[in-house]
Amino acid sequence: MRKPFVAGNWKMNTDSHSGVQLARAIAGGALDAAARSVDVAVCPPFVYLQAVAGALSSTGIAVGAQDIYCEQNGAFTGEISASMLKDIGCIYALCGHSERRHVIGETDELVNKKIGAAILGGLLPIFCLGELLAEREASETEEVVSRQLRSGLAGLGVEKVSAVTIAYEPVWAIGTGLTATPEQAQQVHALIRKLLGEMYGKRLAEETRILYGGSAKPENAAELMAKEDVDGLLVGGASLKADNFLAIIKAAL
Ligand code: PEP
Repeated sequence: MRKPFVAGNWKMNTDSHSGVQLARAIAGGALDAAARSVDVAVCPPFVYLQAVAGALSSTGIAVGAQDIYCEQNGAFTGEISASMLKDIGCIYALCGHSERRHVIGETDELVNKKIGAAILGGLLPIFCLGELLAEREASETEEVVSRQLRSGLAGLGVEKVSAVTIAYEPVWAIGTGLTATPEQAQQVHALIRKLLGEMYGKRLAEETRILYGGSAKPENAAELMAKEDVDGLLVGGASLKADNFLAIIKAAL
């Protein structure tokens, strides 16, 4: 049985005060129900991670980074490593978020290195993948998702991949208000699980959590998570309001 997982991606939002306030409001509302039956994480901007991790200590709510660099230390000006993030209390790291792929220009190869680096540095990667609108309209979703999955996990054995959570995030649904229907999400999640089975065996496929992300909100959270292969949600915009995020967590209980 896979434990539901709801993660909030704050993107480049909040400030030092509002970030801590938001974290406290989430912790206050999630009570221990979230800690016991649903894994919950928030991913604030790097500069507020430590303050948010402090505000959430002993609440059962984990903190994740929105990105990492693919090396642990050295002459990489401006970059931040997995081991540094672990050092300040991070548990998770998003790897390959669509905004990093399509705005910043990250490739499948770089995403693969980042996933490996996250695991090496002691973080649990949340590996994001998903197709563009044009790719969906050209019936290329399966091909794109398969390529991203295989490239992202290339060279990683079962033990390492067991640390990975997958987030299927169709790019056309992220921040657009358009949500994949539960059926569309289920179809791709089932594909991902089938591919994981082929690559790593049935056990890993059954145990790996696959989150959906793309304009998830309180109104659609329950129906998305009701699907067999949707194990939780990666939430952007709706994670910036405690009430909305709490409603989504409650939908996962
Ligand atoms: C995200 O940032 O991963 C995301 C899914 O954003 P939104 O919920 O705003 O579409």
